[in-house]
Amino acid sequence: MKIETQCLHEGYTPKNGEPRVMPIYQSTTYVYNSTDAVADVFDDPQLGMIYSRFENPTTDAVEKKIAALEGGVAAMCTSSGQAASMLSVLNLCNAGDHFISSSSIYGGTVNLFAFTFKKMGIECTFIDVDASEEEIRAAIRPNTKCIFGETIANPALTVLDIEKWADIAHENGLPLIVDNTFATPFLCRPIEWGADVVVHSTSKYMDGHAVQVGGVIVDAGKFDWAKSGRFPEFTEPDESYHGTIYTEKYPHAPYIIKARHQLMRDFGCYPAANSSFLLNLGLETLAVRMERYCENGIKVAEYLESCDLVEKIKYAGLESDPHHDRAKKYLPKGCCGVISFTIKGGRKNAVKFMDALKLASNEVHVADIRTCVLNPASATHRQLTEEQLVAAGIDPGMIRFSVGIENVEDILADIKNAFDVVRNG
Ligand SMILES: *Cc1c(COP(=O)(O)O)cnc(C)c1O
Repeated sequence: MKIETQCLHEGYTPKNGEPRVMPIYQSTTYVYNSTDAVADVFDDPQLGMIYSRFENPTTDAVEKKIAALEGGVAAMCTSSGQAASMLSVLNLCNAGDHFISSSSIYGGTVNLFAFTFKKMGIECTFIDVDASEEEIRAAIRPNTKCIFGETIANPALTVLDIEKWADIAHENGLPLIVDNTFATPFLCRPIEWGADVVVHSTSKYMDGHAVQVGGVIVDAGKFDWAKSGRFPEFTEPDESYHGTIYTEKYPHAPYIIKARHQLMRDFGCYPAANSSFLLNLGLETLAVRMERYCENGIKVAEYLESCDLVEKIKYAGLESDPHHDRAKKYLPKGCCGVISFTIKGGRKNAVKFMDALKLASNEVHVADIRTCVLNPASATHRQLTEEQLVAAGIDPGMIRFSVGIENVEDILADIKNAFDVVRNG
């Protein structure tokens, strides 16, 4: 099936007389006919469901759909994108371990990697997204367990050279984890370029409608854990799961099965069935929405680039963008709807511009179906001084403009009107 068809038909195929739409299984638990039957499920959790802290039929259908969309073998949903990033790394790193991340990643992920993981004894080295092969190789240590990056970074909008980072990871027996939130599998399938694990905040384009927070981890099923030699937790008996050796018992997807039966069992950050039902509705229209976001995104970016009040713009779909060649390789269908630009006149004009917008809403969200804007200097990075903002690579006048799927004429008219207010004010 092509991806447009997969969005509708993967994950759930009703049998004779069953509901057309995957129902919401709002149940914490699952019934068995005998104690022996329950024991069997505990011995091999693949035989049936046990408890909704880590599995549920509605969520299972969504997991199968997302695994298919990304070209992976299995997936596990989480209650947020943050939980997905956290578990994707904790499934590989223990206290005393180290990993590498591109520094061009979501701010919440930076906090998790730089501060919270540090308290847990896990160290992260951040490397520039455009680092040379030598620089990446030089950061790898004997206790390094994985490399992490974002396809299109939020909010920097850089594009990761996935193939290059994957090759270096694999040379060293390391898996590559890619956060594919902004691209979605409609624009890029990182597994095809060598990624071993893909994570998402499904709160963004996948849900699309700003109705529920969620995340997902996808296992490519390709990484050779035994050959790497760095992952005894995959190749030796798991004491906490009656001696299971994940690579032997579940050779098709040891990574995701370990994540579910160790980490999700213990942390329980699993989505509610109702959230998964809503996520599935979003996924059904992902392909048509992504086409429109990209179509509107490039038109708005081209307009902004031509505008005298715009000092800088970052959108990899523009020919002038330093990552345009990478976008052509990894994102041939388009670069999503998120654009960042810096308005002349700093924070004062950014605020004036944003307050003058009528259609675009001012909110701490991105990748919504509706156009929305954020001035990081006034919101997510508000506590920083002007000097600290510059050091963090955020101009005070920077605006993150998330183009929705409205008619682009209306979005452009809103922007033009707001620029007029700035000019006249
Ligand atoms: C929003 C976001 C996250 C965090 O996801 P939540 O669902 O908000 O927890 C992680 N990565 C990227 C790229 C994001 O945009």
